[in-house]
Amino acid sequence: MTPASSAAAIDALEQALGPAGCITDAAQMAPHLVEWRGLFTGSAVALLSPASADEAAAAVKLCAQHGLAMVPQGGNTGLVGGGVPREVTKRPQVILSGRRLKRIRALDPDNYTLTAEAGCVLADLQKAAAEADRLFPLSLGAEGSCQLGGNIATNAGGINVLRYGNTRSLVLGLEVVLPTGEILNLLRGLRKDNTGYDLKQLFIGAEGTLGFITAATIKLFPRARSSATALVTVADPHAAVRLHAHAREALGDDVVAFELINQLAFELVTRHIPGARLPMDAQSPWYVLLEVDSVHADAGTRLQSFLEASLDAGEIADGTVAQSGQQREELWRLRHSISEAEKLAGAGIKHDIAVPLSRVPELLATATEAVTQRMPGVQVVAFGHLGDGNLHFNLNQPDGSDADAFLARWHELGEVVYDIVAELGGTFSAEHGVGILKRDDLARYRGGAELALMQTLKRAIDPGNLMNPGVLFEDA
Ligand code: FAD
Ligand code: ZN
Repeated sequence: MTPASSAAAIDALEQALGPAGCITDAAQMAPHLVEWRGLFTGSAVALLSPASADEAAAAVKLCAQHGLAMVPQGGNTGLVGGGVPREVTKRPQVILSGRRLKRIRALDPDNYTLTAEAGCVLADLQKAAAEADRLFPLSLGAEGSCQLGGNIATNAGGINVLRYGNTRSLVLGLEVVLPTGEILNLLRGLRKDNTGYDLKQLFIGAEGTLGFITAATIKLFPRARSSATALVTVADPHAAVRLHAHAREALGDDVVAFELINQLAFELVTRHIPGARLPMDAQSPWYVLLEVDSVHADAGTRLQSFLEASLDAGEIADGTVAQSGQQREELWRLRHSISEAEKLAGAGIKHDIAVPLSRVPELLATATEAVTQRMPGVQVVAFGHLGDGNLHFNLNQPDGSDADAFLARWHELGEVVYDIVAELGGTFSAEHGVGILKRDDLARYRGGAELALMQTLKRAIDPGNLMNPGVLFEDA
């Protein structure tokens, strides 16, 4: 497209969305052009922020008419580069932001549902549900800035998947603007609806490649009356897996979080995060942070007696149960500070992997040995959602090494880890998605009929390849 026709498109978009909805000023666009870690950046001719589904539909229609590629963006907290424009662009791009789609359209406590627009910040939705004495259980480190639309587009996981499932299992209905500009209204708050293909599932986890999500109806749950959180030490991942199995036998679905953390992860936190301190004296090679909720008042006593039995059985070595809301916050702050501490410690290579839970010990042993052989001195920071078989198997640069030289080996080390994961029946991306970062891995590990069907669906729904081109697949 020539600059002149680009200008005509911008004029039409400004008319449709008003000055607040169509921004071309470079300074105002700047924060939306770069991913939060600075790993991915690109350019755009405009930042479009529709304030309603109708405005979004009008904007998408105009973009399609004028051949503008569209990059949906939520809170820009994604970790695979899918929410910022591409560096190498074959067409002019616009950012399609959810930030002005902020209304809660309905909250139905009897139906245990909430219908909200895509730009609602996750923490605000948790709060709205709590005010109606309900729980919206999706919870993750970025909840203060990520948006519902981004959560759905990435099928976000987080710390409560063990009990409530990932975002996919929390969405009952969806409203999506298709790449043609047509609104697909699937906003049904039904728990049962067997009427052909379940189309909303296509858009959940599609990372903005099939349409722009404008609203969703999400599932709510009863709110816990009591909650208890503990940090315990275990000898090794085998012990952690056993502890998890026994915790679920003893406490059932009240186990809402079960996180595994290795020693180095917590060492980095206590070294780099001001005020961070472990609540136990002795160090341990492995830690488990677990949380129990109950609709009765008994979470504390039930967790306590489970831990006493585990101590007697020698399954845990030491432990501490939070005695107040503040102590609970402090335990979770240790866990949530790991990413920040890793960044402060130096360059890091990240792997967000999952295997069947029973194979986690084998994965940790084999992958640690393989990466250490490939790069002596590499530091393994392993932590994550053990209850889901999902680990963040991260590698920090060897002490005194060159950061750029280390990062240049991201792909090579990734293949070492992902090949082991594949052999164990696992996935190379458990919760962060594919985006730009893991496109090659999608082709490598999900090739053949699976990848071909994904591409067939993409072509059917977005024949012009205008919706987030270059995400998931190479921009052909
Ligand atoms: P963005 O980053 O803006 O976009 C992400 C993707 O969704 C992009 O491909 C984008 O094009 C698409 N998209 C955004 N909005 C829409 C829309 N309205 N319609 C269609 N497509 C859209 N993720 C987890 O799963 N579990 C975690 O535990 C977790 N912890 C995190 C902790 C931290 C500190 C950080 C920074 C991130 C973490 N993440 C985690 C990753 C990230 O927060 C999630 O992927 C989140 O769901 C992204 O939401 P967002 O609004 O920021 O989306
Ligand atoms: Zn995670």
